[in-house]
Amino acid sequence: MQYIEPLAKLIEHFRALPGIGTKTAVRLAYHVLDMDAAKAKALAGAILEAKEKIGFCSVCCNLSDRDPCAICSSAKRDQSTICVVEQPQDVAAVERMHDFHGVYHVLHGALSPLEGVGPENLRVKELLARLRDGSVSEVIMATNPNVEGEATAMYIARLLKPMGVRVTRIAHGLPVGGDLEYADEVTLAKAMENRVEL
Ligand SMILES: [Zn+2]
Repeated sequence: MQYIEPLAKLIEHFRALPGIGTKTAVRLAYHVLDMDAAKAKALAGAILEAKEKIGFCSVCCNLSDRDPCAICSSAKRDQSTICVVEQPQDVAAVERMHDFHGVYHVLHGALSPLEGVGPENLRVKELLARLRDGSVSEVIMATNPNVEGEATAMYIARLLKPMGVRVTRIAHGLPVGGDLEYADEVTLAKAMENRVEL
């Protein structure tokens, strides 16, 4: 045992976070110990508050502190165009370009047979339910430009076509294998503008 117990526990929690190696975890843990009590309490409180107050929008499945979320309940958004993305972070990326006025649907992943992720693990059912009343005219597949994202776009396009809805795919130009989340606004805006019919 290299560290006293409470410190070891803190390091362990930091190490479990994505992108944090042992060295960084140790540095963060010591940083927390250096913080004054009020700041440490505020940090712990923010984690708890985010977990307590943020849930999923029952319409688009995005993270939200109310239901339906601000986008789904906005009269300024075009409810007939749905942009389908993999993760909540992708909604934030598309919103950053201030160019898309439709609404979203968050799948919470992409199809990946190798990792055992099938359609039943994604919010596909919820998407189909939104199309039933015929008010949606276009679904834009904005899943990531990698193998899983392409497979997911094709799968959903096949499901939606018979429902008479226009299904489009954002254009390539996004770095292949990259994440939507990290695309710059110009690239993303171009990809959206040059979308093609699926
Ligand atoms: Zn919503």
